[in-house]
Amino acid sequence: MDEVKEECGVFGIFDPDGSNVAPTIYYGLMALQHRGQEACGIAISDTRGPVGNCICHKDAGLVSEVFHEKNLKEITGNLGIGHVRYSTTGGSRPENAQPLVISYIKGTLALAHNGNLVNTGDLKWELIQNGAVFHTTTDSEVIAFYLARERVHTRTVQEAVAATARKLSGAYALVIMSPQKLIGMRDPYGLKPLCLGRRGSAYILASESCALDSVGAEFVRDIEPGEMVTVSAAGIESAFPLPKKRCAHCIFEYIYFARLDSRLDEISVYDARIAAGKALALSHPAEADLVTGVPESGLPAAKGFAEQSGIPFGMAFYKNSYIGRTFIKPSQEEREVSVHMKLSVLKAAVTGKRIVLVDDSIVRGTTMKNLVRMLKEAGASAVHVRISSPPFRHPCYFGTDVPSGSELIANQYSLEEICRMLDADSLGYLPLEALSEMVQGLPICTGCFDHNYPMEIPKPKKLPFWCGE
Ligand code: AMP
Repeated sequence: MDEVKEECGVFGIFDPDGSNVAPTIYYGLMALQHRGQEACGIAISDTRGPVGNCICHKDAGLVSEVFHEKNLKEITGNLGIGHVRYSTTGGSRPENAQPLVISYIKGTLALAHNGNLVNTGDLKWELIQNGAVFHTTTDSEVIAFYLARERVHTRTVQEAVAATARKLSGAYALVIMSPQKLIGMRDPYGLKPLCLGRRGSAYILASESCALDSVGAEFVRDIEPGEMVTVSAAGIESAFPLPKKRCAHCIFEYIYFARLDSRLDEISVYDARIAAGKALALSHPAEADLVTGVPESGLPAAKGFAEQSGIPFGMAFYKNSYIGRTFIKPSQEEREVSVHMKLSVLKAAVTGKRIVLVDDSIVRGTTMKNLVRMLKEAGASAVHVRISSPPFRHPCYFGTDVPSGSELIANQYSLEEICRMLDADSLGYLPLEALSEMVQGLPICTGCFDHNYPMEIPKPKKLPFWCGE
């Protein structure tokens, strides 16, 4: 079975005034849909009781498929969390959908997690040896188990979260709902984003600021790396239960993953992508008549390239927005077909033109190879491929879905070979040094490009196959 990797979105809200938060979670998850299209769920409780009254609805599918008027009406309460999930093949078991709800000593606890732990095997083995049984293959269930175990002998749920966090190594942005509290916690490297918002009396936690905008909440601040925030009837509390680490925000959020209208850790995703395009135009200029981007992911960097180079920016493709992301199609053949289903060339815009084609990344090369061919078949006289990130060469251990080394084209072939395979007239990647500038000096994790990870990656513990690894 393939390893479970997760790129997810989380959302949580508590309204001490008592209004029903389910519709807000629904709209928040809709705004985070780009972070995961495989499954989603909402868990709701009411701080006025009865204790243990948590209702959870989760299933495979998009937010708009899983939730409708009827089942949304059935989940009501003033405290709730939600999750959208994306995983690669093998992780797509229905029971892996979140939030994860457990009954424990204090009633019910629900948890939603974005990120990947690097010590799941060790943690799981320790629990299994003490009699634990697991229903999912997610590391989130391991976190939930530790929380429940710690809570037996801690005074507050926050102490249990802090004690659990001390065990975890890797990336996590967590939202946790206990009977009376909403808790958000971010790993000490700040790998995955999490921010705090407010709407009237309600406080909201969300993976990205775009989710706050979409529910009419004001952005309060980012949760700091290593910070645990608790929202309860007593207001907001903040604590830093872990030793401080050197921050390493995931650069891939800015390159591709986050939504264009979000601000993460005070940096606008849009500005970062424009800056990457500008840096690309400086490092890899081209003689061309038109700069275009692969919709949607390459468009802002293409705009930046055009602004810097003075070459006009224009559209070259029509995108059918009703087709899912091509990356998640499991077989290579299906991937090839879905590029064509998703994008078609605007012939009139490209015939006879020398084109700069910008995308945010090349993974296997499927998308780019097809698009270059489509442009040339439509009469483009030259296609210069420009990529607004450095070559993808190494695995991500923290939750970004990068295929194994042998499938990464940049890991197998030289720049010249890739250029030939794409049938491009030239190929240029963003230099590694430009990444820091792209996010105005924010400390970042660049492990997938340079193998420079912010923490030691332990050898994965091999568990017996029946332990669901
Ligand atoms: P490929 O066709 O395999 O080279 O994939 C490249 C395309 O996938 C680009 O258009 C990227 O925007 C997109 N992409 C890159 N990384 C990811 C990811 N982790 N998840 C989903 N899509 C991605």
